[in-house]
Amino acid sequence: MNLHRVLLAVVLSGIVAVSEAAVPPVLVIHGGAGVIKRDLTPTKEKAIRAALTQALEAGYARLKAGKSAVGAVSAAIVVLEDDPNFNAGKGAVFTHDGKNELDAAIMDGERRRAGAVAGVQHIKNPILLARAVMDKTPYVMLAGSGAEDFARSIGMPLVDAAYFRTDARWQQLQKARKEDASGKLHADEGTAKHFGTVGAVALDVHGHLAAGTSTGGMTDKRWGRIGDSPIIGAGTYANSDCAVSATGWGEFYIRTVAAHAICMRVSQMRIPIQRAAAVVVNQEIPALGGNGGAIALDAHGNIAIPFNTDGMYRGWIDASGVPHVAIYGDEDDSTAEPPAPAASVH
Ligand code: ASP
Repeated sequence: MNLHRVLLAVVLSGIVAVSEAAVPPVLVIHGGAGVIKRDLTPTKEKAIRAALTQALEAGYARLKAGKSAVGAVSAAIVVLEDDPNFNAGKGAVFTHDGKNELDAAIMDGERRRAGAVAGVQHIKNPILLARAVMDKTPYVMLAGSGAEDFARSIGMPLVDAAYFRTDARWQQLQKARKEDASGKLHADEGTAKHFGTVGAVALDVHGHLAAGTSTGGMTDKRWGRIGDSPIIGAGTYANSDCAVSATGWGEFYIRTVAAHAICMRVSQMRIPIQRAAAVVVNQEIPALGGNGGAIALDAHGNIAIPFNTDGMYRGWIDASGVPHVAIYGDEDDSTAEPPAPAASVH
């Protein structure tokens, strides 16, 4: 090899090393949209902020260690599934029949691999089963008892259905049943029934994105209802340019294929992620009568967290490495879409 080639090889390997190191990891999480101030006691608010921080730390530690975005997303979501304050894993909402039926999905943006489970009743961490579906089967989505058979086949322990129960969620079901029986319909019906779904999107040091979402769905749901969270493209989606996890009134997120709609604007139309996410969450979905929010992240580390509810449990660690946690709508707008530049006057 002549000297020029050797020099070129050295320079190139330096560039690769610099560009790899030049992708600072980013993690964004949510714990559901809704949140009316009067609903939160100071104790509960503190617990929620602590859980969001713990989830950020769990996921970010993996990203800092050079682990994959998929690993960071599942680590963050496991923390929130295990916390009874969120509508995922322990603390999930009840169905009309008094059961907990859980949905989850995960997607690896780089290779567009995905895994999902729907309507499982004995899986402590549905996000881990969704990941196993992605990693260990030729399928994308498994449902109900079949998904649980698969869990057994890979040695994942099943838990008793009573594990998921919390009194707060049980009381919510009693209230929802009464309202249903009285035929009382609220404009905010969707919001009231879907607090606390959890999700995460991550960008790893290799520049790869991933998204994941886990939920108990909506209080009082019937007949095997499945929401948007486990449906790839609706509540969860990632490709090499964009990752999204949504939360809100699932039927509207399915009908707008919301997560995919955001990512297609980013990938194909080259629309900035904050605009893309705001158009879908704050215009398309409310125009149909739905509500909720989403977290979105692009491959440059730009973050969007639009929501059209009073608040959204959310947290992020951007390229600066500083963790942020917020709950209410007016609390921190650093991830909001910047105002459009004033039109120039000639
Ligand atoms: N989107 C979820 C569902 O409809 C609920 C939520 O995000 O709060 O199942």
